[in-house]
Amino acid sequence: MMRPGFDAARCIVVKVGSSLMQAGDAVIAAIVSDVVALRSRGVRIILVSSGAVALGRIRLSLSAGDLSLEQKQAAAAAGQPLLIGLWERAFAMHRVVTAQALLTLDVTEDRRSWLNARATLSALLDLGAVPVVNENDTIATDELRYGDNDRLAARVAQMSGADLLVLLSDIDALYEADPRLTPDARAIHDIPEIDDRIRSMAGDANERAGVGTGGMRTKILAAELAGGSGCATAVASGLAKNPLMSLASDEHGSWFYPSRSSASARERWISGVVSQNGAVRVDAGAATALALGKSLLPVGVQRVEGQFERGETIRILGPDGQVIARGVTAYSAADARLIAGCRSDEAEIRLGYRRSSALIHADDIVRTGPAEAAR
Ligand code: GLU
Repeated sequence: MMRPGFDAARCIVVKVGSSLMQAGDAVIAAIVSDVVALRSRGVRIILVSSGAVALGRIRLSLSAGDLSLEQKQAAAAAGQPLLIGLWERAFAMHRVVTAQALLTLDVTEDRRSWLNARATLSALLDLGAVPVVNENDTIATDELRYGDNDRLAARVAQMSGADLLVLLSDIDALYEADPRLTPDARAIHDIPEIDDRIRSMAGDANERAGVGTGGMRTKILAAELAGGSGCATAVASGLAKNPLMSLASDEHGSWFYPSRSSASARERWISGVVSQNGAVRVDAGAATALALGKSLLPVGVQRVEGQFERGETIRILGPDGQVIARGVTAYSAADARLIAGCRSDEAEIRLGYRRSSALIHADDIVRTGPAEAAR
């Protein structure tokens, strides 16, 4: 059977576990060749690659046992250039450019940084590059660390509006019991819902199966995070011949279905934001464009009300002052005032820098129904 979700995916975040980065060039080449094939179908792909600590540890001749936090950070600093080099060389064979993006927990938890990181990843994809994300282990402190890249990858999937998160490691699926202890343990290929039964499988049997920091527990956590934003998650072996393409068949890997649609998750997030201090009043042309699902351009803005920062949710008012939508603004109130009513080229001159031409991107706008408009 085929998995329609795989063919339908427009943006995929692929997380590659540490053990795979040490498994040899052929493993990386197979992943890269599948990424290239998917890109040629128009799929946007972001890689989240682990392995900096594992590669750096060898480079610095650190012992095999537990490392202190400082030693791990030193290992990551020494290993990250090797890691990026492995991807660079493998993608260069296909004439594809890679780009390194190192994120920390505070970047993904602070909305302004979140928007900046999202804009950068999106620009890289528009320019045809493959972003290779990792945690910035060197500066992350213990309490401000992801520690495992499964959850980091889930946050990147949310950030980029991905519809599929693939977690590649040496674990090929979620099993009912530890397959090394119970050889006839069954793999579960489809997980419509993450309930206590599924969580308990990660808690014991599969816990020891993982190499690296992750293991099955963090994979299920990642699937829950991603699923809440409408993104499906697949857990699969990175050692397969076609680690990504094979996911088209439902006999490979474990597929976690999202708990809600991506559109509704985004809408909930935008309309659920409590403080909506500011507002922009738009002209009739912009109101019509918004009704058609278009972005809000500065030229359609007549007035900017209140104070807000880039990344805040603000109200969008129609020409009669009624709330017609809410959206996450790409500009602060001060900058929005500067460019209100301007065409994009003039806006750039007034601001002295160039950013996205939309004041609020269509993806960040939720239109308000008639009942809500009265609130
Ligand atoms: N950021 C860590 C590294 O690159 C990976 C953490 C993990 O194992 O998921 O080594």
